[in-house]
Amino acid sequence: MSLPSPWTPDPDEWRELLAGEPAYRARQLWQGLYEQGLAPSELSTLPAALRHRLDEVVRPSLHLEREQRDPADGTVKWLWGTEDGVALETVLMPYRDRVTVCVSSQAGCAMACGFCATGQAGYQRNLSVGEILEQVVAARAAAAPRRLSNIVFMGMGEPFANYDRVLTAVRRIVGDLGIGARHVTVSTIGLVPGIDRFAAEGLQVGLAVSLHAANDELRSELVPVNRRHPIAEVVAASRRFREQTGRRVSFEWAMIDGVNDRPGDADELAVVAADARAHVNLIPLNPTPGWPTTGSPAGRIADFARRLTDRGINVTVRANRGTGIDAACGQLAAGHQPETPVTVGPRRRRPRAATQVGGLRAPPASGPSIL
Ligand code: SF4
Repeated sequence: MSLPSPWTPDPDEWRELLAGEPAYRARQLWQGLYEQGLAPSELSTLPAALRHRLDEVVRPSLHLEREQRDPADGTVKWLWGTEDGVALETVLMPYRDRVTVCVSSQAGCAMACGFCATGQAGYQRNLSVGEILEQVVAARAAAAPRRLSNIVFMGMGEPFANYDRVLTAVRRIVGDLGIGARHVTVSTIGLVPGIDRFAAEGLQVGLAVSLHAANDELRSELVPVNRRHPIAEVVAASRRFREQTGRRVSFEWAMIDGVNDRPGDADELAVVAADARAHVNLIPLNPTPGWPTTGSPAGRIADFARRLTDRGINVTVRANRGTGIDAACGQLAAGHQPETPVTVGPRRRRPRAATQVGGLRAPPASGPSIL
């Protein structure tokens, strides 16, 4: 049975694990985990016997299977494996003014969006709090000497389908890893109950809604969950989120050639974005082998953006990052063949035997990128 990640227990659970130790050990341990990004076995402030004892009950969950770097823009993508044989991905994106990490909340995804490599591959399981946080801790170490400034939950999985663990991870990112709530964004495919619940948490975290189409017929084709939560409900929930938190929602729109990039699509989007007072992010779609179409050409994206702007909508065209390294979410996992692992971030040693690597399940097809 896999041991839990050291980044999973909360302070009360740590106090129980440290039963019999002086009270200050819990504080030392928490500081080591969150300020230094070190596992208990690496903490020289703890006595060797305690380090050994803790290594029997908690152990880092993610081991690096593969790392890809795009020399063109500095994007780094990691494929992680876990002891129970699932694969998940994290992408680190350095920009001139910030360093952003895109983390996964689930291994695979059950939402089955057709244009998405992760959706094509299917669902494996929810990630634990520790598995989510280990991605952030690794990214922080890899970003150094620059400061990791932004966290986006836009990797594999639907964050609100793993609500409680994502919320705990977000609270620790803000409270213990010191990243401002306004620099954290959770992206949902439009799970309305999750949006409403998240709005009531009293956080200043941003919300991105992956819309991709502004009429129900097309959206249900691209995003099957639209049949359960149609556009009018998603837009109303986005409006409520804004009213309750004061934070602007952004609508994510993967630009798909000939599918959702026509003038009429822009006009429909302008109406719902105005209704929700949402910002629009246009994302050139990274091509995926399991989806027959491609991203829109640059000229059409520019025309689409202009049409929205003319209708009073705030628009950003997101730079397409990491196209040289299969940066579309789920693509690396899809194309993965087990190979010699390398080390990155806080992992100074590989926690499990190489036989675990062979057990890594590679999802069958490849898929989105709303990265
Ligand atoms: S686009 Fe997001 S919600 Fe849809 S299948 Fe992919 S990871 Fe899941």
